[in-house]
Amino acid sequence: MKKTHADIVIVGAGIVGASTAYFLARKGWKNIVVLDQGPLFETGGSTSHAPGLIFELNASKTMCQLAQWSVATYRELQEDGEPCFYPVGSIELATSSERWADLKNKGGRALAWGLGAKLLSPQEVCALFPLVNATKICGGLHVPSDGIAKAVRAVSAMARAAQNEGCSFYGQTRVTGFIKEAGRLRGVLTSAGPLTCGQVVLCGGIWGPELGKMLGEPIPLVPVQHQYVHTTQVQALAEETQEIRLPILRHQDRSLYFRQHGQHLGIGSYYHEPLVVNPYTLGAPHSAQPHPAKRAFSEEHFAKAYTSACEILPCLKTTDLGERFNGMFSFTPDGNPLVGESLKLKGLWFAEAVWVTHAAGVGRVVAELLSQETPTVDLRELDCNRFWDHSKSPEYTRLRGAQQYREVYDIIHPLQQMASPRPLRTSPFYPRLLELGAVFFESAGWERPQWFESNHSLAEESAWPQRSGWTAKFWSPIIGKEHKATREKLALFDLTAFTKLEVSGPGALAFLQKLSANQIDVPLGKIVYSSMLNAAGGIQCDLTITRWASDRFWVITGGAIGRHDQAWLLQNLPEHGVNVQDLTSSYCSLGIWGPHARKVLQSLCDDAMSPEAFPFYSAKELYLGSVPCLALRLSYVGELGWEIYTPSEYGLALWDLLWKTGQEYGIIAAGGGAFDSLRLEKGYRLWGADIHTEYHPFEAGLGFAVRMQKENFLGKSALEKIKAAPLERKLCCLCLDNPNFILLGKEPVLKDDHVLGYVTSANYGYTVHESLAYAYLPLAHAELGTDLRILFFGEYYSARVCAEPRYDPSHSRLKS
Ligand code: FAD
Repeated sequence: MKKTHADIVIVGAGIVGASTAYFLARKGWKNIVVLDQGPLFETGGSTSHAPGLIFELNASKTMCQLAQWSVATYRELQEDGEPCFYPVGSIELATSSERWADLKNKGGRALAWGLGAKLLSPQEVCALFPLVNATKICGGLHVPSDGIAKAVRAVSAMARAAQNEGCSFYGQTRVTGFIKEAGRLRGVLTSAGPLTCGQVVLCGGIWGPELGKMLGEPIPLVPVQHQYVHTTQVQALAEETQEIRLPILRHQDRSLYFRQHGQHLGIGSYYHEPLVVNPYTLGAPHSAQPHPAKRAFSEEHFAKAYTSACEILPCLKTTDLGERFNGMFSFTPDGNPLVGESLKLKGLWFAEAVWVTHAAGVGRVVAELLSQETPTVDLRELDCNRFWDHSKSPEYTRLRGAQQYREVYDIIHPLQQMASPRPLRTSPFYPRLLELGAVFFESAGWERPQWFESNHSLAEESAWPQRSGWTAKFWSPIIGKEHKATREKLALFDLTAFTKLEVSGPGALAFLQKLSANQIDVPLGKIVYSSMLNAAGGIQCDLTITRWASDRFWVITGGAIGRHDQAWLLQNLPEHGVNVQDLTSSYCSLGIWGPHARKVLQSLCDDAMSPEAFPFYSAKELYLGSVPCLALRLSYVGELGWEIYTPSEYGLALWDLLWKTGQEYGIIAAGGGAFDSLRLEKGYRLWGADIHTEYHPFEAGLGFAVRMQKENFLGKSALEKIKAAPLERKLCCLCLDNPNFILLGKEPVLKDDHVLGYVTSANYGYTVHESLAYAYLPLAHAELGTDLRILFFGEYYSARVCAEPRYDPSHSRLKS
């Protein structure tokens, strides 16, 4: 290796490393070095034997966008005059009514994400792929822009383009260690000598955990073996002259996919128990084992798959199996890639667990991040810092990674819960929650009640819709009863999963002022609701900040997104003067909300709880009985009440105290199902659904929490430009004309046949008796009363734009 220093070192010259180098080079970076332990460009990694099928559609809008960008990139590339992408389109087959319904739902999702897709009859499927047995299928979903990437060819083409801009690639150069200095990565040690650098991007694929071990950074992914088989010549393709002409095909009811290799077919199978591999035993390529990411084919795991393949493609009955192998690629606990900068070590970046499908898109955003640009797509689902500690343990990673493999082609309900490992994180109230028959959902490892079976006997209103089918899954009519009891009487919600961060030190105020769009320099005991913005003005975090002392604040945010928000604070932390401490496990929390909340608290404490003495958006330290508490007068459900925090060891005593005192007022325990419908009626935005970095506060209806007159804060100059231009779209509330029909979110919203946006959140409002959905709409269609259509499982539902919030717009309940 000639080089001794690089601006950026990329470890791995597979499709992810090459894409990252390609996009960095396009941005003008010159001194980039890409290292691979294997030969260039068939390195022996996963890319070397990926058949390269690209199905762009994904439940995640971000993942779909990354796939669309990847397709656009591969389409532009050529190597020796040969294309790197074949836009043959894809067909997903349905062989069951459940799958057919799912394809209808997916067709809507495709529209929502701006991807062309069409449902096909069995005959239409056969017109495109004549080898399919039409008698076995209900139909298919066709995405014409999908196709096949020639992955190694694309690597070679991207590497060549990067080399032309000055980037260097070195094969057979193994990274054996890292040079660290004062919390920063300074270089890599390699089999060809040391190389100093400013930043390192790990694109090591299944070797990620091994590289992580060298760095002391657990990388939560597992390699899983996946079967791929080439058939011998297919009689019906005997005259075929092209390598790739037929669409790619998915038979998800049997976890299979197919592509054409000239006169042969390729069969990929997930139709077997996950074969997880220890990531620390992979080794590097050598002459005896040139492809360390390949294992011998295990016949026993393919038998069922082959029978199913022959049923759907009868032409396979007369073929044999040709080249076949178990290839390996990476699975993370939630199935998504790991992208971003390490929190522990500055200058260490990850682009791990990425499919060919998303690789160029990921390369593009990693290059943007390294160039200090703000990606236009929200990266929360890929954020390498999204995992809590337990989810980085080898066991959790193995169990969840295997489950992701198992479910890769399953029909997954948006509220579907994982079965194991559970329970992991329980609040001090857990024994009481169990006694009350809590039905738990999991979030960030926490067991969170969704509803309580003990509330079954509460009154139900006849006007509430009965749900069936898909919308009735992971739902109970009890949710409506808990909603109503919160509005009319009193409910306790376990909020322990909320992420609580204490920000303290002489620089704490200036730090929070710099990150927050709202004014944080408020009197002690005040609570501020604020967005934190990225440099482009996108909403990075949505949280509350409570000022306890001149130099001590609590930042409270959601459970599921807590790690993401914490990472934002830590990434922006000045070197001195500010301390961020995670108090999530030290404090438990209860929401006590409902018209009787004040009476209960007042009877337990000496401090005055009147609206004057304890106004909305203020906080106090107080005692409830003998329990020391921090009480925050806030309510995400839109009713009078408080969030009460106490050190965890007092939790059970606090619960028992409130429960006993609340009996007189009809107190109930309520869960996350009611919480969501209560907040939607009140118009409260949910970060990760209604708001995230792709939206700015003005279009999200959060301009009231932005102080443009405040001195500089992150995102302010972007907001100034945004404000100077006319608003293009805004978050609107839609009421369905048929209140008995409930949506789940992510459905496309249309005016006539024109897609305007998609549903960010939806639920039934049990108080307002309306089926509600939120969506960003172009201003021309955001007028109150505008009639629109929403597509759900192939059916259109009419809806109209309504004033919001639907419940208590004057906030009289909150302020009472
Ligand atoms: P790799 O291609 O594995 O590249 C990582 C590189 O890092 C390797 O070249 C390795 O040598 C190098 N490296 C690791 N450690 C070191 C070190 N210490 N020093 C130097 N170099 C190092 N995806 C799709 O989108 N569509 C498909 O149809 C598809 N089918 C697949 C079928 C099979 C059988 C398999 C196995 C995978 C398939 N995939 C598919 C997944 C896809 O191939 C991978 O997710 C993708 O190729 C990963 O790319 P990568 O660059 O991260 O990893």
